[in-house]
Amino acid sequence: MNDCITIRHELSCFSVTKEPELVTSKTGKEIYVTRGISTAPGPSGCPVCGSAMHRHGKREMKMQDIDLLGHLHIIIVAYDRYCCSSEECNHTQMQEIRFKEPGHFITKRMGRRIRIRLNCGAGISETARLLSVHPNIIREIDKANLKAMLDGRKTPICEYIGIDEFKLHKGHRYATVVTDLKSGHVLFLEAGKSKEQAYHFFSLMGDEWMRHVKAVAMDMNAQYDSAFRERWPGIRIVYDHFHLVKMYNDTVLTAIRRRKQREMLENGNEEGYTLLKNSRYLLLSRMDTLREMDREAHENNIRLHALYLDKGKPLPPGERIRSPYKEKRLSDILAANEDLSVCYLLLEQFSLAYDVKSITKLYRGMKSWMKLARQSGVPELLSFCNTVEKHLMGIVYHAKFPISSGKVEGVNNMIKTIRRKAYGYRDTEYFFLKIKFASMRGPYKFKSHTFL
Ligand SMILES: [Zn+2]
Repeated sequence: MNDCITIRHELSCFSVTKEPELVTSKTGKEIYVTRGISTAPGPSGCPVCGSAMHRHGKREMKMQDIDLLGHLHIIIVAYDRYCCSSEECNHTQMQEIRFKEPGHFITKRMGRRIRIRLNCGAGISETARLLSVHPNIIREIDKANLKAMLDGRKTPICEYIGIDEFKLHKGHRYATVVTDLKSGHVLFLEAGKSKEQAYHFFSLMGDEWMRHVKAVAMDMNAQYDSAFRERWPGIRIVYDHFHLVKMYNDTVLTAIRRRKQREMLENGNEEGYTLLKNSRYLLLSRMDTLREMDREAHENNIRLHALYLDKGKPLPPGERIRSPYKEKRLSDILAANEDLSVCYLLLEQFSLAYDVKSITKLYRGMKSWMKLARQSGVPELLSFCNTVEKHLMGIVYHAKFPISSGKVEGVNNMIKTIRRKAYGYRDTEYFFLKIKFASMRGPYKFKSHTFL
């Protein structure tokens, strides 16, 4: 019987002096250790002064290789040190180790394996645990890898772009993101949310590229519009639906709800206060969404009753009876609060008016919407109308330039997800590289294949 297989190690310029041996590490793990020497040729001359170099002692280095038969594999490689023969120079350098990943004590093929895992979307800690490599090494490799992939990429011509701000980390610092609204690719990222960032974007892309841009989508609150107006007056500024609705939700619906709650608390109206409590989500949802949720809740409750409650069994963990009265609750809230009710209905009409594809129709629609809104006399709504009036042309041009709010919202959500996944990136440069890469990665397609 023969229980051995001999396999080439495939490490360039490495000569094994001692076959892999299973040893127990300090932490009690069983690991393979292989010893050998680097056989790479020494330097032909001193890289500083050109004089001959001579051997100057031997050293050893440990590095981690990919696993061997399911165990960690450590390679201990002996290498020479060389010293310049010129006494003034005294330059020293080590013998090359061709299979070593530059900057880290791991082999190149381990570096490759780390990159493959990361490119498949695995996180830092997952990869670290799976390959037993320190997370700092993985992070550094990931960063260098992303930089190499993204640097020198030529940006295709874009007609519609979106510029937006997002929160950096937990603090109050902001960053600017510019996206190609057709592909969803992130084109530019920089800390800060002022005019300056827009100017930096212009100079990064160059005049030739900027000349092809037809329209830019942004938030009405943003600081970028003056930069666009000054430098590229031919590019139309369009206020997209996503940001308008977000603004309406924040400055009208949420503001009224807070005011009402405050008033009720002062007047001792406990019933009204309780009704409004925890209603933020309800007010920001559409009626048909709530109706659908109620239907699901109802079906869920019937199922749980039939399976457990009617038989006297307790509910298993994770299952619960859900309230099927969300729609009714919203109706009650709206019935009891006139201001909220008016504003809730006006938002639906605002969205309907926004779907129009003709500039004149949208202009007329917006005008009559504002007239209606102003008649209500609700102070929060009046100030929203003033903002809309000031930015009316940017809203109306939406009819001409098909800027998809889905893309704008998508980029927003993607950034949030990446930040959450990493528990907040302290390294801003790395965070930006992650966002850029995630925006460019296409959806994963599984190719059917057979082995052998
Ligand atoms: Zn020298």
